Amino acid sequence: LSDRLTTVFSSLRSKGRLSEADINATAREIRVALLEADVALPVVKDFIAQIKERAAGAEVSQALNPAQQVVKIVNEELINILGGETRRIRFAKTPPTVLMLAGLQGAGKTTLAGKLARWLKSEGHAPLLVAADLQRPNAVQQLQVVGERAGVPVFAPEPGSGVGDPVNVARRSIEQAKHAQHDIVIIDTAGRLGVDAEMMQQAIDIRDAVTPDDILFVVDAMVGQDAVNTAQAFMEGVGFDGVVLTKLDGDARGGAALSVRHVTGRPIMFASMGEKLEDFSVFHPDRMAGRILDMGDILTLIEQAEQAFDAQQAEEMTQKVLKGENFTLEDFLEQMMMIRKLGPIGNLLGMMPGMGQVRDQVSQIDDKDLDRVAAIIRSMTPGERANPKIINGSRRARIAKGSGVTVGEVNSLVTRFFDAQKMMRQMTAGMPGMPGMPGRR
Ligand code: GDP
Ligand code: MG
Repeated sequence: LSDRLTTVFSSLRSKGRLSEADINATAREIRVALLEADVALPVVKDFIAQIKERAAGAEVSQALNPAQQVVKIVNEELINILGGETRRIRFAKTPPTVLMLAGLQGAGKTTLAGKLARWLKSEGHAPLLVAADLQRPNAVQQLQVVGERAGVPVFAPEPGSGVGDPVNVARRSIEQAKHAQHDIVIIDTAGRLGVDAEMMQQAIDIRDAVTPDDILFVVDAMVGQDAVNTAQAFMEGVGFDGVVLTKLDGDARGGAALSVRHVTGRPIMFASMGEKLEDFSVFHPDRMAGRILDMGDILTLIEQAEQAFDAQQAEEMTQKVLKGENFTLEDFLEQMMMIRKLGPIGNLLGMMPGMGQVRDQVSQIDDKDLDRVAAIIRSMTPGERANPKIINGSRRARIAKGSGVTVGEVNSLVTRFFDAQKMMRQMTAGMPGMPGMPGRR
């Protein structure tokens, strides 16, 4: 069996490319992860196709197994797509810069207006909030509360002036901004629960009246699959330049981010994650990619493995393990050192062949102990390290003295080593095949 595995490994290596079977197997997992993250199905299909294409051209990595490598490509590609063309607000050459918020009712526009205003103010701007949502009875008042909290004035139709016309309010707000020297105008607009022609027309009329520098489409990350249809409707209707994802403090996996980005081609600019005005940040593609894949841990592990993993060293170790021969105390020490280099992450060890066995031993040893273990092994002669069976009582006493530990500690180390060796033999004998042996080609 081990011969066969060796053949599989070497054939993979000689090909130098990820195999289609490897890619397909991992792509299936990715597909499920994306669907579970509420990425819209057509988007998933496109994305997977894109990944397969890229993975097919990828060189086989020395440090990662094929599945890990595909996951890594997926992560990179996700970050690429989510973050491509990340950009800040487009400021007007002649102030005021006009920002218009569009989106369904409840998406978080009014809340976002306050967050943007507060943030821009902290960046040294003098924003003006504009209440152009005259649809809902309390909308103006809600914006006024938000504005007060942000310390930013709100432009609204005068009380008693009857129901204002939102287009007119928006238009007049620009005059007011120029007059009062506001360099940024943030226009909060009305939404409906669903996409609706009248609402869209109103947004278009406001747009045409004030020609915004940026229209931001605000979308609730919790809506999941629906995000695609809503985004498309707004894209075709009023159009927009950037996207803001809200309610990211909820348990949404963030598939909406990928869907909206993919379908509209517009960058995601900001993230809103709470009801408080400070729960707001520029959008971080890498965090979102991790959230969508829900593989943050795996990805961290992969990164660390890549950094700390000496591919050559591991290769030699693997060959030894595969041959099931001569696992020496030297190897034991080497593996423990490698484990230490990787840090206190037990899971990572599953990535490396044979390491699982050593991990169980090492998990009982803390960092300080590891130094003692190393000292013990270094106090042995090369012959003893290569063939620990010869370590009898008098040798143990000598080793203990040489390394400054008790004979009991030497005994315990030798016992642990034999346990690891035994487990390793068992593993080599009963190796079930690739799944349990994820490490190497
Ligand atoms: P609008 O209809 O688009 O103006 O949406 P609102 O700004 O009025 O927000 C609708 C509801 O969602 C309000 O209860 C907000 O407090 C809440 N909300 C807005 N943004 C967030 C967010 O990022 N996280 C959470 N948890 N709630 C939010
Ligand atoms: Mg509102």
